[in-house]
Amino acid sequence: MTQPFLPFAKPTIDEATIADVAAVLRSGWITSGPKVQAFEKTLSDYFGGRPVRTFNSGTCTMEIALRIAGIGPGDEVITTPISWVATANVILEVGATPVFADIDPVTRNIDLDKVEAAITPRTRAIIPVYLSGLPVDMDRLYRIANKHGLRIVEDAAQAIGSTWKGRRIGAFGDLVSFSFQANKNITCSEGGCLVLNNAHEARLAEKYRLQGVTRSGMDGLEVDVLGGKFNMTDIAAAIGLGQFAHIEQVTRRRRDLAARYFDLFGPDFEAQTGAQLPPCEMVNSNWHMFQLVLPARIKRADFMTRMMEMQIGIGYHYPAIHLLALYRERGYREGICPVAEGVGRQIVSLPMFATMQDSDVDRAVNAVKSVLS
Ligand SMILES: *Cc1c(COP(=O)(O)O)cnc(C)c1O
Repeated sequence: MTQPFLPFAKPTIDEATIADVAAVLRSGWITSGPKVQAFEKTLSDYFGGRPVRTFNSGTCTMEIALRIAGIGPGDEVITTPISWVATANVILEVGATPVFADIDPVTRNIDLDKVEAAITPRTRAIIPVYLSGLPVDMDRLYRIANKHGLRIVEDAAQAIGSTWKGRRIGAFGDLVSFSFQANKNITCSEGGCLVLNNAHEARLAEKYRLQGVTRSGMDGLEVDVLGGKFNMTDIAAAIGLGQFAHIEQVTRRRRDLAARYFDLFGPDFEAQTGAQLPPCEMVNSNWHMFQLVLPARIKRADFMTRMMEMQIGIGYHYPAIHLLALYRERGYREGICPVAEGVGRQIVSLPMFATMQDSDVDRAVNAVKSVLS
């Protein structure tokens, strides 16, 4: 009997959310409105009362964060090469220069020693990424920022529900950006939000997301900054509100699934296969993904093909950004981040989503073991 295909990620939208989306569609108000306001209030409460504004993607959220921080031409922004290309693209988008610092081979996050070494008089900001939802050493990150007077734009796209020393990612720090894209732990279909420091930044965020407009009185309208069209719709916000009701349960389930992966791979898996498991971190990470780094003897494409034949979806997150053509053309070269280059070639994401069954983990682990043996 052939087994059904097991995807590596899958959104779950409950019936109450579907009904709520239908109600928005019938309401006569389908763009930004009361649902967006309610979603921003829910998010702000979640992040300890800090101001939060929503947008139509995690990417534009990051770009707007850089604009709020005043980052532009002539500025250097230090980031990781192992992220979705959006993280570096937004630096180019605002006219600044990405500086790639290599990753830590264990956490696969940016190596803070390398960050410190990359700081120059032109450095203005750091964009850390919490790959799979695992935060970096947040105490050290902010010590570096304070010591050198740098802004931090946290690319927490994957880290909703993650924590650091008992505090939620987003509830502290500088500008913190989340994504609600379809594969994230909480989705709006597409969307993002930015946690800000104060009312002034929140006003700026509102301007950047809607043509720089400020309205006043019955018919007052002024434009004093160049903004774009980045607002979230009430349709998306209704999905987000419905999803958010389950965040604790979703995070708990993902941690349980990760724990099952570790149990089933067992203590000898790395020694026997040469593959590397993720760090076994069961407190801070929201387990957005469960990623293996394959041994060099295995070609990733062959591994993915064999897994697909066994009806198991595999993702790869991510190839090293600085080796993509757009970046090579700008002078970035193989060799500047050797750890990231190796990980970028061999990393794979195993199935991980909240409605996955325990037996799905068993299937995935058995398949991995059979391909690697
Ligand atoms: C998803 C993601 C983004 C981009 O978010 P979108 O909502 O798809 O624009 C940026 N950075 C990281 C690390 C992501 O995972």
